[in-house]
Amino acid sequence: MIKLKSRREIELIRQSALLVSKTLGMLAKELKPGVTGKYLDKLAEEYIRDHGGIPGFKGLYDFPATLCISPNAQVVHGIPTDKPFDEGDIVSIDCGVLMNGFYGDHAYTFQVGEVDPETVKLLEVTKESLYKGIEQMRLGKRIGHISHAIQSHAEQHGYGVVKELVGHGLGRKMHEDPSVPNYGRPGSGKKIKEGLVLAIEPMINMGTDKIVQLRDGWTILTADGKPSAHFEHDVALVNGKPEILSTFYYIYDALGLPQTEEDAFRRQKLELEDY
Ligand code: MG
Ligand code: MG
Repeated sequence: MIKLKSRREIELIRQSALLVSKTLGMLAKELKPGVTGKYLDKLAEEYIRDHGGIPGFKGLYDFPATLCISPNAQVVHGIPTDKPFDEGDIVSIDCGVLMNGFYGDHAYTFQVGEVDPETVKLLEVTKESLYKGIEQMRLGKRIGHISHAIQSHAEQHGYGVVKELVGHGLGRKMHEDPSVPNYGRPGSGKKIKEGLVLAIEPMINMGTDKIVQLRDGWTILTADGKPSAHFEHDVALVNGKPEILSTFYYIYDALGLPQTEEDAFRRQKLELEDY
């Protein structure tokens, strides 16, 4: 059953989502060749707790860490390790926060140093597909409009769209109804209503859409070993239009990237606090 949210509940989800955003911004400064996932995970847990939140993933379905860290051919659900990142890696970091009874859940794929142009393109197109999906979150449209927009953009570039893992509703639970697949027909799925809050999260592979799982029971990898990208935003339907509750602007601020791609999905300019 879909639980539509009041304005107050949406504001609480925004607070949790923004703590995830600030955590990712902090990590953007730390992620360099030689740094390990375990180190980033420790920093993230301390940061979240210092800011009044609880790591949302740790212990959820028995996941052992604060962050899902999925480098290169890992799609999602990677467990942080002691293996240092290398120049040229891409690293998907997914982070959840529980605060005031509501979850935020949001992800970004980072570049470690200089990344080859073919892989940079995969990251760009995956992020574009996220915004194409968000644009479709309009009153009266259906979840399938979001799904279709993501799929068509990714497939236009010859990429594989992961089918087994999907976006979701977000609120008092990390994963609520409805499911938000990254593939589908425009008129299919549940109707989009005022107060709907979704975690929209394309997972796009450079090669095949087929995936495999490691024996750790968590890590998802591409079946062909080619890279995979993952970008996720939390989005609410407010006044019939999509409003992004999370933000990549802390990451862009940390990396010195002057991006304005989210402005179209905000009522007012976001003032970044120090983090
Ligand atoms: Mg996530
Ligand atoms: Mg999610």
